[in-house]
Amino acid sequence: MAIGHQKAEDKGQIRNHELSACGFTDKPHNALGSYDLANDKEQIRNTKDKTMSPIQINDTTLRDGEQSAGVAFTVAEKVIFASLMDSIGVHELEVGIPAMGSIEAEAITEISNLGLQTLLTGWNRAVRSDIDASLACGLERVHISVPVSEIQIAVKFQGNCERVFKQLRDTISYALDRGLYISVGGEDSSRADDKFLLDVALAAQDYGASRFRFCDTVGILDPLTTYSKVQELVSKLTIPVEMHTHNDFGMATANALAGVRAGATSVNTTVNGLGERAGNAALEEVVMGLKRIYGMNIGIDTTRFKEISEFIVEASGCDIPPWKAIVGDNAFAHESGIHGHGVLQNPATYEPFSPEEVGRERRLVIGKHSGKHLVTSFLDKYGIALSLEETRSLIDAVRDLSVELKRGLTPDELLNLIPNH
Ligand SMILES: [Zn+2]
Repeated sequence: MAIGHQKAEDKGQIRNHELSACGFTDKPHNALGSYDLANDKEQIRNTKDKTMSPIQINDTTLRDGEQSAGVAFTVAEKVIFASLMDSIGVHELEVGIPAMGSIEAEAITEISNLGLQTLLTGWNRAVRSDIDASLACGLERVHISVPVSEIQIAVKFQGNCERVFKQLRDTISYALDRGLYISVGGEDSSRADDKFLLDVALAAQDYGASRFRFCDTVGILDPLTTYSKVQELVSKLTIPVEMHTHNDFGMATANALAGVRAGATSVNTTVNGLGERAGNAALEEVVMGLKRIYGMNIGIDTTRFKEISEFIVEASGCDIPPWKAIVGDNAFAHESGIHGHGVLQNPATYEPFSPEEVGRERRLVIGKHSGKHLVTSFLDKYGIALSLEETRSLIDAVRDLSVELKRGLTPDELLNLIPNH
């Protein structure tokens, strides 16, 4: 049981570090002006040891993300994506399902051979042949998933609860003998009987697993329930707890953060929130939430989030809506009179953090809701000064044209509305 004890110590260190460094003090968001890009980069450079981060991001874009209906990445896309994630400092990647064989195993093997700093983990069922497939891909870390809710056990194990323990014990022992790091996941943890879930997690720890994944597989939790369920696991286990949350009620990120607040130290994410059905907790949302709401800098270069989001839009063929948090086109766009007026004086009036922090730029849009300040500031750039009366009629014309076009105006369209220009 040396492994178990070692992990317990690690976990204690993480906690102390987390509390002293971050403290969850409920401090308000840092004001926009306090953002210091150079300091951020320096902190990222200094976080060389990935295991020292208070929270580990274990991104599963290549596994759960690709399980989105209709999504299939090529081997080349998977390899490029893994390198991108490594270069921004993501701590761990769930690289796929080795037991699928063929092209999936080929991609995982190629990624294993890249020599990345990011830890690589394969997804497995609790059977020896899956572990063999992971080993054949060159992986040193395996995630083993078992069903833990009544409905999942009925469908997958014919209602035989004992099989959960038997197969888990056998597969963990097989993987341990081969020197692998083992994470165990309770599929459908959120709908499992609490006592049974704890029994499985404690058994996994006892058999030699180094981490337990709490899965809200069908995304039915809210943050308060998540907090109490995860806190119970964290208080009874000595191994770290990982969050795996789905977005069926739009709460994947909130639930992931609630889990962290309850003591989970690892979080599954996907870029753009890609994933089964309504998707998973989005990488960009979780990392920015940890950074800006909880004040935890976990050593990930957030300035490349836009670039990575665009890569996944392209590779998955799945667009994101303009209002998507962090990476959507409108996430830093302002059109309305009141907001435009505020942002022109101080961007923090209507922005939670600076767009540069996530590789974005602020965009001021002239459209139906724009007012005098936004229009005047735009005209200033062209050296155009209008009287109050002229500005009013221009704003009326802007409204009419925006409604007609059903969108904001381009600079040329606005200039064309000014008589004698
Ligand atoms: Zn999932």
